Amino acid sequence: MTRYVFITGGVVSSLGKGIASASLGALLQARGFSVCLRKLDPYLNVDPGTMSPYQHGEVYVTDDGAETDLDLGHYERFTGVPASRFDNATTGRIYSEVIAKERHGDYLGATVQVIPHITDAIKEVILRDTKHFDFVLVEIGGTVGDIESLPFLEAIRQLGNELGPERAMFVHLTLVPYIPSAGELKTKPTQHSVKELLNVGIQPQMLLCRCDRPIPENERRKIALFCNVRPQAVIAALDVDTIYAVPISYHTEGMDREVLRHFDLPADDGLDLSRWNEIVEAVRSPEGEVRIAVVGKYTNLLDAYKSLAEALTHGGIANRVKVQLDWVDSEVFENGGALHRLEDCNGILVAAGFGERGTRGKIEAVRFAREKHVPFFGICFGMQMAVIEAARNLCGLRCASSTEFGPCEDPVVGLLTEWARGNEVERRMEGGDLGGTMRLGAYPAVLSPGTLVSELYGGATWIEERHRHRYEVNVSYKECLERSGMVFSGMSPDGVLPEIIERPDHPWFVGVQYHPELKSKPFDPHPLFAGFIAAAVRQARLV
Ligand code: GLN
Repeated sequence: MTRYVFITGGVVSSLGKGIASASLGALLQARGFSVCLRKLDPYLNVDPGTMSPYQHGEVYVTDDGAETDLDLGHYERFTGVPASRFDNATTGRIYSEVIAKERHGDYLGATVQVIPHITDAIKEVILRDTKHFDFVLVEIGGTVGDIESLPFLEAIRQLGNELGPERAMFVHLTLVPYIPSAGELKTKPTQHSVKELLNVGIQPQMLLCRCDRPIPENERRKIALFCNVRPQAVIAALDVDTIYAVPISYHTEGMDREVLRHFDLPADDGLDLSRWNEIVEAVRSPEGEVRIAVVGKYTNLLDAYKSLAEALTHGGIANRVKVQLDWVDSEVFENGGALHRLEDCNGILVAAGFGERGTRGKIEAVRFAREKHVPFFGICFGMQMAVIEAARNLCGLRCASSTEFGPCEDPVVGLLTEWARGNEVERRMEGGDLGGTMRLGAYPAVLSPGTLVSELYGGATWIEERHRHRYEVNVSYKECLERSGMVFSGMSPDGVLPEIIERPDHPWFVGVQYHPELKSKPFDPHPLFAGFIAAAVRQARLV
């Protein structure tokens, strides 16, 4: 029997609903249940792919090529269950599907309305292909009380009735702030938030209360009394030093036990949290520290690089070191002045990105890493910058550039309008739609034996990694770049698209066209991040 847990949020945004949902998923998994996590986003974009990272943070790409909310990254990292395009839906997608059906005549003359047509479509998204899971956790984006979330709340209210309490549960995440002048934790915002939920017909069975200190028994009883929940179902979601300690903290507060109790499932045995204890122990007691400069464009909004930051932490876990991140806006290098900032780094990572702004600085950072023999990792745009740097400074192609920034004499990086996906050919037109049209999702790469990268992948010759880009390193410059010492250690199976570059004349210099950070897990660090941090550890010992 599949059970559904709906997770809503109240009072303010950014309370960590994604990590809360992921942590509950991890706890249920640790008790032997299979889980599926889904996120419903109330905004009108069809997906977050066209949104600025400043608006939305990172776009998380699934194997099947969907551009999704970054919370799906937390779900995958915490549970190891690969997300799919069915695990994230927005108002925009739901409306466009309903309107397409209306145009097709599928509603047989009915007046198409929010209730029941939109709510039915939302319910379909929630239930689709979930029968084989023990638990489906559905996170509703936004904050209760927002106009946009109403159809989602109505849909889960209906589902709650249809499934019945034995198969559905509502968990509400709220804030219990500490007011220093009163010296007290305040429960009123939680009471109001639950009232908002009750207004739309939803009675939560559990409250997850974000707070910076334990909730005294009195306050807990007060919340329970006013909000109609059992005192044991008022769970303190305390601040912790690492997100990987959240599942353990929730367990200590009794969350999983209470969820199982709601569903009448035994909660006494079979919990295995050893994996989480090991990760937290590794994060809390490192044997050293390395400093990594992350050179990018959106460095004042760290949500834009969520998976990247996590993957670097995982690289640290693999090497039992703390990874100190120095986020550097690439524009600071544009006049050559600030390069000294990279001097005390043990590794330099040039991150993914779009558009010309800041690229001169990124190229300077690549040059610094190459010339000073500092471990270098270029991801997607970062690899493209490494190729442009080599073309300009080693191959003598002064005008080498990417056509992303306009026409140029030597397009070492160019627009991709046609590529193979399995046996199919994908085609794009210049000036076509921007949404969902990049090379997206898992694509294979063939690795050259004997290279650093194939060794890091454990001798593999065929890998699959996730992509999200419109431009590609132009294979017609391959030989020229090879003469400069660059090795193309990974290519698309048809040999047309360079996937990985490296430099054997350097301690650790790797660029990848894909996003390895999307597949890294705390309990299964990605080999390239583990290798990069290992190289940084070696570098730290040398300086
Ligand atoms: N802007 C580059 C492209 O579209 C790189 C994208 C990225 O770094 N994800 O190819």
